[in-house]
Amino acid sequence: MAGVMPRLAAPPFEPGTVWLVGAGPGDPGLLTLHAAHALAEADVVLHDALVSPDILGMAVRARLEPVGKRAGGQRTLQLRINERLIRLAREGRRVVRLKGGDPLVFGRGGEEALALAAAGVRFRIVPGVSAGVGGTAAAGIPVTHRGLARSVAFVTGHDAGGGFPADLDWQALAQGADVLVLYMGLRTIGAIAARLLAAGRPATEPVAFVTNATTPRQRVAVTTLADAETTAATIAPHAPTVIMVGPVVALRELIGPWQDTAPMVVTPAPRRATA
Ligand code: SAH
Repeated sequence: MAGVMPRLAAPPFEPGTVWLVGAGPGDPGLLTLHAAHALAEADVVLHDALVSPDILGMAVRARLEPVGKRAGGQRTLQLRINERLIRLAREGRRVVRLKGGDPLVFGRGGEEALALAAAGVRFRIVPGVSAGVGGTAAAGIPVTHRGLARSVAFVTGHDAGGGFPADLDWQALAQGADVLVLYMGLRTIGAIAARLLAAGRPATEPVAFVTNATTPRQRVAVTTLADAETTAATIAPHAPTVIMVGPVVALRELIGPWQDTAPMVVTPAPRRATA
């Protein structure tokens, strides 16, 4: 890439601050320039399980601290992450909190920002390409499309306890949004599809499952609302998957075959002194 990039003046990553950074859905090429800069400068990176090793490899001088949600009770863990961020900042580190996709889309980045604000720690939020937009695009499916879909709802398929979020207004979602993009919905899609059908969405409405989007392991399964649960059962239960319900899914047939999706390849730079 040398020679083609203009010179960029990144804002300084001050010691004692935290950057809440979106890593995008997987392809390192979907990082923002702010994210790449933050990774290069960071002393410590607290990262989720979903972030790819290629992207972590860009943090050449940082200590990596995995803080995956699967490691324990979610509530306690979030508190501990908040405390850890505050503590590292107070020690004068440049701290990156790296999350898959966008940090403020089903990523609890807002809670971390609130905790940092309450503790008087300066921070910066670096948005990322959310799986519901970048992952669906990688499958060749536009989230909106003139004449087909003028509204889109991003919806969680899980409640805080990991079950079907029965308290969401599924009737309103079914009737109010042309396209539904479901995060964390693989295990609850049966119940979700039943609610959407009951609210009047057609049984033949196309549904796409996009798994490991923008990575070399990306898989796309297209089905219908009536068959969504059966299709979900063919996908590994923990594989990150966005589910898209709506007429736009039909465009994949026309767009997908012509689309190049090779991810950017990272050649790790030699590691520099750790903090
Ligand atoms: N902050 C993230 C979402 C975190 S919730 C974002 O903005 O994308 C975790 C869910 O995101 C997963 O259950 C899955 O639904 C979705 N997801 C994240 N990365 C994905 C990927 N590479 N492919 C498909 N879905 C993904």
